Amino acid sequence: MVKRLILILGDQLSMDIAALRQARKDRDVIVMAEVAEEGSYVAHHPKKIALILASMRKFAKRLRENGWQVAYCELDDTRNTQSISGELIRRAAQYGTSDVVVTRPGEFRLIDALENCPLDVTFLEDDRFIASHAEFEAWAAGRKSLRMEYFYRDMRRKMGLLMDGDKPAGGKWNYDHDNRKPAPEDVAFSGPLQFTPDQIVNDVLDLVEARFGHHFGDLRPFWFATDREQAQRALAHFVRYGLARFGDYQDAMLADNQFLYHALVSPYLNIGLLDPLEVCRAVEDAWKAGHVPINAAEGFIRQVIGWREYVRGIYFHEGPEYAQRNALNHQRHLPDFYWGAQTNMRCVSKAVGQTKSEAYAHHIQRLMVTGNFALLAGIDPTEVSEWYLAIYADAFEWVEAPNVVGMSQFADGGVIASKPYVSSGAYINRMSDYCKGCHYKVSVKTGEGACPFNLLYWHFLDRHRDRFSNNARMGNMYRTWDRMDDTKRETVLAEAKAFLERMDQGGLV
Ligand SMILES: Cc1cc2nc3c(=O)[nH]c(=O)nc-3n(C[C@H](O)[C@H](O)[C@H](O)COP(=O)(O)OP(=O)(O)OC[C@H]3O[C@@H](n4cnc5c(N)ncnc54)[C@H](O)[C@@H]3O)c2cc1C
Ligand code: SF4
Repeated sequence: MVKRLILILGDQLSMDIAALRQARKDRDVIVMAEVAEEGSYVAHHPKKIALILASMRKFAKRLRENGWQVAYCELDDTRNTQSISGELIRRAAQYGTSDVVVTRPGEFRLIDALENCPLDVTFLEDDRFIASHAEFEAWAAGRKSLRMEYFYRDMRRKMGLLMDGDKPAGGKWNYDHDNRKPAPEDVAFSGPLQFTPDQIVNDVLDLVEARFGHHFGDLRPFWFATDREQAQRALAHFVRYGLARFGDYQDAMLADNQFLYHALVSPYLNIGLLDPLEVCRAVEDAWKAGHVPINAAEGFIRQVIGWREYVRGIYFHEGPEYAQRNALNHQRHLPDFYWGAQTNMRCVSKAVGQTKSEAYAHHIQRLMVTGNFALLAGIDPTEVSEWYLAIYADAFEWVEAPNVVGMSQFADGGVIASKPYVSSGAYINRMSDYCKGCHYKVSVKTGEGACPFNLLYWHFLDRHRDRFSNNARMGNMYRTWDRMDDTKRETVLAEAKAFLERMDQGGLV
């Protein structure tokens, strides 16, 4: 007789996930379901849907090979109720049990759905993270500001990563200063390891094409890893060939090289094919063996045990309404060029273009191109956040919302960032090759051909003067603005306004 249903969600594909660890092969049934509700609550990139469905099917296959009883429902099964709760209710009736065990989902929307499911659902903490919820809350308690750096140091100490006794290896906690080199002429890394689709993946690609082919994004060619063994090979490939220069060029951008020295492991980490600690240990080992410099190893480990853990902590600490915040009261609609319509801004066009083809853009493209533009232009952060959630293969709300609402759009009013991440075209020009060949001229501040980032940067500072002029980190910006003569300031603001009006009317900008 079946005792309990063990629910495994599409981003919980780890053999040692909490719900599986305490399940029993002789009495429990694993429930997995491909449901339309999860594929379409935002219009996910087809590659992202394919990654998750193919990985789920392979995970279920492995579970069965390991002796588990798996009740798996494919998307086009006529009995499929197309929602997680619906599938649980159906399986509960089929197996004659109302007991469900699930590892707590990483999204309030799903937690809510399961809490309201008319079955006896037991939640277990997702312990695939370095910091538990309790640890994060203890760290956050009583602090005036929740900055990542101190949290990160605690995580380093806790895991003994890159530590020399109780001191940071190499003498410094943070080598960020060395990690801001502009785009290199040549990139020696050929990019992430790519995999040829097998039968399971091809079946999923056909299904996704038929059901979600109308979503924004190219489904093929599809080359993501879709099981643990492939993801481990992708990680090893990065550590061996890409990691050494990761730090140096972490912030650089190139129009025709989407990956530079980035790992592309976030989709695998976020669905459970890789474990954060195993990723960090592999990086630390490469440094210990003398294969990579400390700025590369530290820079990478900070992203994983620092930023990744920290944003998750913030998401759960701040609560369900966090994703809807709009501290700067930005109301503009997301322009069509975020969905592939033409724009003359080469940086935006290239970042969106590679997102469409790969469901990927690296951190600085997300932060300082598409995010920066949305913030400068005053776009509604909920629309911005939905866009990011839909179009990146690694986007799950616990990690996406703090990065977008908090870090990128300052819509949380400064919980994450001490100042907004805004820049004029000069930063983009310094860190990339986008500006060469752009319709606009990055060196032109007003008039014919002026770079829109230059105009909108001042427009942003001017319209948010009350909030930011007393921010110690923004004083220089306001002093520069205030030193400009009145006529110049008026021209900048008028041209920025005209640009935004043209954009709102759907004109080519
Ligand atoms: C506006 C915006 C939205 C973002 N949305 C997401 C998202 O939905 N999902 C997501 O996983 N990351 C998100 N990030 C963080 C970061 O852009 C991606 O993790 C990274 O680009 C993934 O590519 P990679 O594996 O090649 O990363 P690398 O550059 O090689 O970095 C290594 C790893 O560090 C981790 N990491 C780095 N920065 C962050 C961060 N800020 N938050 C969490 N983890 C981080 C990732 O796991 C990543 O795999 C976002 C960043 C910004 C600025
Ligand atoms: S000139 Fe301005 S719009 Fe064009 S690529 Fe450079 S920063 Fe982007």
